Amino acid sequence: MFDYLIVGAGFAGSVLAERLASESGKRVLIVDKRNHIGGNAFDHYDDQGILVHKYGPHIFHTNSADVFDYLSRFTAWRNYQHRVLGSVDGQLFPIPINLTTINLMYGLNLNSTEAEQFFLSKAEEVKDVRTSEDVVVSKIGRELYEKFFRGYTKKQWDMDPSELNASVAARVPVRTNKDDRYFTDTYQAMPLHGYTRMFEKMLNHPNIKIMLNTDYHEIVNDISFRQMIFTGPVDEYFDYRYGKLPYRSIEFKFETYDQEKFQETGTINYPNDYAFTRITEFKYLTGQRNAKTSVVYEFPKAQGDPYYPIPKPDNMELYRKYQLLAEQTADVWFAGRLGTYKYYNMDQVVAQALSLFKKISAPAPHRGTYADPIIS
Ligand SMILES: Cc1cc2nc3c(=O)[nH]c(=O)nc-3n(C[C@H](O)[C@H](O)[C@H](O)COP(=O)(O)OP(=O)(O)OC[C@H]3O[C@@H](n4cnc5c(N)ncnc54)[C@H](O)[C@@H]3O)c2cc1C
Repeated sequence: MFDYLIVGAGFAGSVLAERLASESGKRVLIVDKRNHIGGNAFDHYDDQGILVHKYGPHIFHTNSADVFDYLSRFTAWRNYQHRVLGSVDGQLFPIPINLTTINLMYGLNLNSTEAEQFFLSKAEEVKDVRTSEDVVVSKIGRELYEKFFRGYTKKQWDMDPSELNASVAARVPVRTNKDDRYFTDTYQAMPLHGYTRMFEKMLNHPNIKIMLNTDYHEIVNDISFRQMIFTGPVDEYFDYRYGKLPYRSIEFKFETYDQEKFQETGTINYPNDYAFTRITEFKYLTGQRNAKTSVVYEFPKAQGDPYYPIPKPDNMELYRKYQLLAEQTADVWFAGRLGTYKYYNMDQVVAQALSLFKKISAPAPHRGTYADPIIS
């Protein structure tokens, strides 16, 4: 008899398995339908011996000391500040848009104060900021919006920014200084030996049994357990009773080139050209040395593995119906990006799992429910 059946061996499932086993002495069975642990953060060495991320580039960043300290039990880190350039009109510009971007683009030599004035002069007045277009246009104006945001967003979501919630663009800051780091979080680092190694350490506990290549439907009636933690898609759990929650998927195309370096920085975005959104060169992220180099091209797709919950009001409404069902389901806890239909980064999923663990371990009885992450 297991205390917990955990569905999904990504960050949500693995953190909860580790906590329940090491801290509460619970017996845990963790199942994943894929042939590996780590969920979407899984990495592996390709045929050329280069460490690549199977489900697209994963860069760790957080402002939470709790999350960083917790993960540091399972990995050493390599300091890494991610940098992104955008290919616009045949030239490369820093992204997020910063002082260098506008000086380069308009042949100017502004300082930070002048840049603020520049953005103000370009910004359009939007009375009620509701969509992603509203957010960007009201910050930097229509021209920069068209050059850097509109095409990328259309490719990424197959929707015009005017159809998307403001929250999508709220993640894209604009700077008036020369800071060209993609993230500004306190902790920015990559697991020194990769994510998969970190997950192996996390799950290496005598109370944790791992079953791969197994959809939980195949075993759920044959195994006895007290409670379930479900980190797969919440609509799948309820047999799509109210219909499918929409997701955006991505096709990843990996290439290895017979040259040491392929591009100028870790990621180059292509907002307006080609069908792919961006190219990432893994050696920048991992610091690995090799005479060859591997990159990944990302092609957003409607069909495929569920990656990005689509943040539209209708979908949030639909999710709320599933959320209600989930809250009424005894002895099942829902967690993670798919289990709570939220666009979470890795650190937010870890924070959510840590806080769900506290809730589960609290003495008072609870029904299946969620825990909000402690950071945003
Ligand atoms: C392209 C891309 C790039 C990203 N880049 C970053 C980044 O740079 N930085 C960052 O912080 N975050 C990034 N993320 C987000 C990050 O991947 C997630 O926050 C994190 O992996 C979510 O962990 P999870 O455990 O919730 O879900 P997942 O990692 O998706 O794990 C869920 C697991 O459940 C399994 N499962 C589902 N259904 C079943 C079933 N029926 N039976 C058995 N198993 C099942 C799945 O196989 C999967 O392994 C990125 C995401 C994507 C898609």
